[in-house]
Amino acid sequence: MPDMSYLDSKYFIDEYVFNCPFCNRRNVAYTVRHLDMFDWTEDKKCYIYLAECQSCDKVSMHLTFENIQTNPISGYHRHFIIGENLDEKFFYSVPTSFFSLDKRIPRVLRELMTEAEGCLKSNFLTGASVCARKLVYELAILEGAEGTDYESRLKSLKGKRPDVEPEYFDTLLTIQQVTSDKVHELSYDGWHSRHLRVILATLTEIFNTMYVIPKLRAEKRQSIIKLKEEVLSQKKPQK
Ligand SMILES: [Zn+2]
Repeated sequence: MPDMSYLDSKYFIDEYVFNCPFCNRRNVAYTVRHLDMFDWTEDKKCYIYLAECQSCDKVSMHLTFENIQTNPISGYHRHFIIGENLDEKFFYSVPTSFFSLDKRIPRVLRELMTEAEGCLKSNFLTGASVCARKLVYELAILEGAEGTDYESRLKSLKGKRPDVEPEYFDTLLTIQQVTSDKVHELSYDGWHSRHLRVILATLTEIFNTMYVIPKLRAEKRQSIIKLKEEVLSQKKPQK
């Protein structure tokens, strides 16, 4: 069975099911119940889609610059005609996709990651860059790492957490080094969206390794110990 847990971190899984931010059910059926359009600028249109959870009936709102076609099913209910990469098309959702990050990751990191992803989706690269740097800053505080700048904090974190694959920290350091040369004279720390995507994906993996996997292991261990105790406490049948 392939690991499909990455689907839990999405809003829309495909044209039929999504992860509901209201009832928190995963893989639950939804329909598109309303769509509308307005002029974002003189020559750019923005499309509004409302998604209704078929379990709790609550409705979430999603904005995109793409006119995503839908098929009517019954009454006002519709389905998107595409099921792939829907999350990437929407730049703004209410509720936010904040719920899709594992709750075991500290709240400050989840909030900054959500903001960074929102900025990136809207192509607000300076905002996304600031959030990415602040994520490393907050992570360093949480982990008691040292350093006065992004690079030294990452090096300190790498030393502090040998349980995290060092390649993750090396990736972040390499991106910092290849991008800082070009912008040095302006002392401007912005990244391009392709850099930011790698940075945010790498940080998400670091957070999962630090905060989610150890807790999952601990829970698993506890349940095995409990099972063992239950088995051993059962008296052997009398002969
Ligand atoms: Zn729901």
